[in-house]
Amino acid sequence: MPAATPLTAEPAQLAAALDGAGITCFERGWLSSNNILLRGGDGPNTLVDSGYATHADQTLALVQSALQDQPLDLLLNTHLHSDHCGGNAALQALYAGLKTLIPPGQAAAVAAWDPVALTFEPTGQTCERFTHRDLLQPGTSMQLGPLHWDIHAAKGHDPHSIVLFQPEQRVLISADALWQNGFGIVFPELEGIDAFDEVADTLDLIERLAPLTVIPGHGAVFQDVGPALERARSRLQQFVQNPAKHRRHALKVLIKFKLLEWQTVNATDLHQWMLRTSYFTLVMPSELHGQPTASRQWMDELLSELERSQALSRDGERVINR
Ligand SMILES: [Zn+2]
Repeated sequence: MPAATPLTAEPAQLAAALDGAGITCFERGWLSSNNILLRGGDGPNTLVDSGYATHADQTLALVQSALQDQPLDLLLNTHLHSDHCGGNAALQALYAGLKTLIPPGQAAAVAAWDPVALTFEPTGQTCERFTHRDLLQPGTSMQLGPLHWDIHAAKGHDPHSIVLFQPEQRVLISADALWQNGFGIVFPELEGIDAFDEVADTLDLIERLAPLTVIPGHGAVFQDVGPALERARSRLQQFVQNPAKHRRHALKVLIKFKLLEWQTVNATDLHQWMLRTSYFTLVMPSELHGQPTASRQWMDELLSELERSQALSRDGERVINR
């Protein structure tokens, strides 16, 4: 067993120190979430989150090359956004004995495979069908690899999300509740459901847990948690004061995400995708409904903003990821 002292390391040695505690983070990017492999000791080999569907082969290759001929025993999803569970089906096909655990609240939607309730359709994203064996109950703890991890509810970004905390090493797997610079879109707000308070509660929870190391859902592992919480709270405050800013930000994130998947697309096809993707039609001003010219213009404004922030470039009709 690793020593029961908090894990600290210089940034350059952080990955190696985590590895020594049986914690390996595969940092993926923004289309696929990070995947965290917990292994060693007498606990089950566990993967937390599995990336996006179109990256499933990479996910399998990363896990296989780390585990060699050992089995993967458990697959956990912090939440069921497509970029966190898109590799589930492929992992289930590869590892016969694999047990998949999901947060409570969406078990029925997974069992019946309801792509609307699971938000794959409303976001215009994709996820191959998978099954689950059990639930991750907040307030309980589980041995994953060599260590015990506490499961905490972490509403806000997603009403069903959980985070995982290892109290001796003080390592937090924060999913999209806290990144080094901000946090994920507050999806319920796009549906008109107040959830900024839940984001604040989750940031308070993270502060109380006092992690020394955070493994976020996207981006690099980090240890300067205080400043990250400060940045997240200041961003949240901006959104609370100006919810329209959050909604617009969310649409730009959804466009960028789709561009990461497609890499390049015709503006006309992007517009068609947008019109059948309900988070866009929910947020779009009502007078634009059924007005293709006006809604196209509205989309072009969003694309121009993304172009100015260098998230994409345009070449005539082509929209190109960058
Ligand atoms: Zn998410």
